[in-house]
Amino acid sequence: MTAKKIWFDGELVDWDSAQVHVTSFGLNYGIGFFEGVRCHDGPEGPAVFRLRDHLTRLKRSAATYLASLPYDTGTLAQACLSVVRENGFSDCYLRPIVFLGEGENPLVAPYHAAVVATAEGPLAGPPKTSGAHAMIASFERMTVNSIPPSAKATGQYLNAMLAQSQALLAGFDEAILLNSAGYVTDGWAHNVFIVRDGELVTPPVSAGALAGITRDTVQVLAAEDGITVREESLTRTDLYLADECLLTGTAAGIVPVLSVDRRQVGGGAAGPVTARLADLLNGVTTGRSGSHPEWREPVP
Ligand code: PMP
Repeated sequence: MTAKKIWFDGELVDWDSAQVHVTSFGLNYGIGFFEGVRCHDGPEGPAVFRLRDHLTRLKRSAATYLASLPYDTGTLAQACLSVVRENGFSDCYLRPIVFLGEGENPLVAPYHAAVVATAEGPLAGPPKTSGAHAMIASFERMTVNSIPPSAKATGQYLNAMLAQSQALLAGFDEAILLNSAGYVTDGWAHNVFIVRDGELVTPPVSAGALAGITRDTVQVLAAEDGITVREESLTRTDLYLADECLLTGTAAGIVPVLSVDRRQVGGGAAGPVTARLADLLNGVTTGRSGSHPEWREPVP
């Protein structure tokens, strides 16, 4: 089902009318900030998951580049809810984006904002909930002193694309990127976790991981479930020797990693902790578990 309306600079416009000029700096230089957010149907109707947290991250991404959002986060939150409602969606993917428009030069050009709702997320095909084979890409994650990986900026996905294309060409499903010191950062669009001796471990944001909303959700739910959660720098060997390995992200949910560089991880199938976390995550995103209602923003 295609959306009819897109929220663009303060109003709902027809899908075909949401156009930008080819000279816009967002297009030419990759200057923009965005979010990937999900709306899930549930017993109490559709609700957007952790909407305020996504928009806070959007604001921080822009601030990293000395940019202010052209609309406040309250307005953008209403925009997100309105595209779900006006398009008659219940389960859908939302893409709030702020990008630099056209003008004399990039320092004076205005920022634009849009929110697009689509029935499917940006992944090619359905999320691999049954498991994925991962590869450590030879392309490194950009560094904190080049393009800060803690922001979710449009241009930085060039780096993700190099790594993920390499993985797909080599017959893998998912790329995992190391930083220049050799430590694990992220997947091309996911956070990485391992389970080792019953503990759930993920690299710190300072290693070059994005502060993923799903990452945080999984950490909270795991801790509440009695699992020890730690942040620690991880090497590729830590992934090879883990009992379980998993990727998390808004579009993908939880993806069990069955092998890394063709080395089988654990039993080579989704492990018990991964399965438990997927269950817990599903419970809160749909509202079926009843826990953390504050994370679900109902679509009025
Ligand atoms: N890392 C990267 C590099 C990403 O692009 C994403 C997707 N936003 C994630 C991690 C997962 O973040 P989230 O759970 O907020 O979707």
